[in-house]
Amino acid sequence: MAREASNVNEAGNPGLVDTASDNTGIGGHPKGLTTLFFTEMWERFSYYGMRALLILYMTSAVAAGGLGFDTRTAAGIYGAYTGSVYLMSLPGGWIADNLLGTRNAVLLGGIIIALGHYSMAVPSIWTFYIGLTLIVIGTGLLKPNVSAIVGSLYSENDERRDAGFSIFYMGINLGAFIAPLICSYLGERIDWHLGFGAAGVGMTLGLIQYWAGRGRLSHVGHAPMLSSDQWRKNAVTGAILIGIIGGAVGLLYFGPEIIQKNRMWIMVTGIVFFLMWLFAFYLKPEEKKPVGVIVVLFFFSIVFWACFEQAGSSFNLFARDFTNRIAFGREFPTGWYQSVNSIFLIALAPIFSLLWLKMGRSQPSSPVKFSLGLVFVGLGAALLAMASTLIGGPGQVVGPWWLVGVYLFQTIGELCLSPVGLSTTTKLAPSRLTGLMMGIWFLSISFGNFAAGEAAGYFEGGSQQALVGLFSKVAAVPIAAALVLLALTPFIKKMMGKVN
Ligand code: GLN
Repeated sequence: MAREASNVNEAGNPGLVDTASDNTGIGGHPKGLTTLFFTEMWERFSYYGMRALLILYMTSAVAAGGLGFDTRTAAGIYGAYTGSVYLMSLPGGWIADNLLGTRNAVLLGGIIIALGHYSMAVPSIWTFYIGLTLIVIGTGLLKPNVSAIVGSLYSENDERRDAGFSIFYMGINLGAFIAPLICSYLGERIDWHLGFGAAGVGMTLGLIQYWAGRGRLSHVGHAPMLSSDQWRKNAVTGAILIGIIGGAVGLLYFGPEIIQKNRMWIMVTGIVFFLMWLFAFYLKPEEKKPVGVIVVLFFFSIVFWACFEQAGSSFNLFARDFTNRIAFGREFPTGWYQSVNSIFLIALAPIFSLLWLKMGRSQPSSPVKFSLGLVFVGLGAALLAMASTLIGGPGQVVGPWWLVGVYLFQTIGELCLSPVGLSTTTKLAPSRLTGLMMGIWFLSISFGNFAAGEAAGYFEGGSQQALVGLFSKVAAVPIAAALVLLALTPFIKKMMGKVN
C-alpha cells in the first residue's frame, strides 16, 4: 500500500521535492528505490554466486577442472579476496565523492564487476586472478555508493528511510539466495567457468536495468564540480589509493615468505598504529569518548566477522566433504547451502524489527546486542564442532540438517550485530567524521574476512581432530569475547552518553 508522502521541501534542491512526494516505487517508496533494489540484488547475485564456487574451485583437483590448490593456500586467497572487497570500499567512497560522483561510480563499478566475472569464465590462472582483482575494484566502487544513493532518496525527516533500507537489504538477500542455487548447479555440475559466467550475466542484467532506470535517479546522489586540472589530480590520487591497497594486499599474500608468514601480525600492528595516530593527533578532546566506543566495538566486530565469514570457506568445505547432501533421493550441489543464510535472513528480519519495536525502550543496549550476536555466531560454530565429532572415518558424513542449524544461529547473530553496528556507528560518529567512522566499520568487516581466511586454512580435510579443533576455537573465541564485552558494557554505556 502506498503511504502518504511527506511534503518536505528542502530549499534549493528540487530533487528532494520529487522524491519526498514520490511513493510510486516498491512498497510506497520513491521509484528510484525499485531501480536500486534490483541493481543491488543482481550485484549481490554475482558476488554470492561466484563466492559459493570460489573455494570449491580452488581446492578441486586439476583433473576435475579445478586449480588443485591446497586448503591453506585456497583459504588464504579466499580471505585476501573477500577482505579486499570490503577494504576497497574506502577508496571507492572517496572516488565517488571526489571524482566520479555517486551514480557514475555505481555504473563504472558494475561494469568492472561484470568484466571480472567474465574474466573468470575463461579457464586460465591469469584470467582467474585478473577477474578477482576486477571484482574487488568494481565492488569497492559500487557497494558503498549504491547504499549512499538509497540514503539520499529520502529527505532527513522522511519516516520511510529505515524501512527503505530494510527493503534494500531484502534485495541484497534475494540476490544472495538465488545466486548459489543457479551458479553452484552450473559450476559444480557442468563446468566451473559456466558458473562464473552466470555470475557475470547477473551483473550485466543489473547494469541494464540500472541504465534503463537512470532517469529515476537523476536528481539524487552527488557529483563533484571539478576543473579538468582538479579532475586529473583527483584521478591520480584515486589510482594511487587503489594501488596502495592492492600493493599492500599483494605483498602480504604473494610477497617474500617472511611477510606472508607474519601477515596477520603486520595487519594488527598497522591497525594499532593507525588508532594511536587517530587518538593522539587527529581527534578533538570531545570526540575521544564516542570514537573510543566505536573503536571498542570495532575489535568485537572483527571477531564476529572472522567467524561468520567462514561460511563461504571452511563451512563450505565441510558441506562438500562431510555432509550428506541428499534431498528427495537426489544429491544437491554443495553451494546450495550458501543460500540458507539469506533465506533465514529474509524470514527473520521482519520478526527482529518487530521485536525491537515492541520492546521499545526496554530493548537491550547496543553492546548487549553485540554480545548476543557474538554468542549466536559462536553457537553456530559449536554445532559444527559437535557435527565434526560424529564423523567416524573417511567417507563418513553427517546429515544435511546440521549445517541448516549452523546457519540459523549465524543469521540470528547477524541480525543482532550487523544492523546495530551500522546504526551505532552513524549515531556516535562526530558529524565531521561520519565518513571516516563508516570506513572503520567497513574496515572491521574487512579484517574479519582476512582473519576468517587464516582460520579456515586450518581446515585440513580428512582429519577429524583438525575439524573439531578448528570449529571449537571458532565457537569459543566469540563466546569469550561476548563475556568480555558484557563485562565492559557498563563502562561503554557511560561513554556512550545518551546514545544507546
Ligand atoms: N550480507 C550483507 C551484504 O552482502 C552484509 C555482509 C556484511 O556486512 N559483511 O551486503
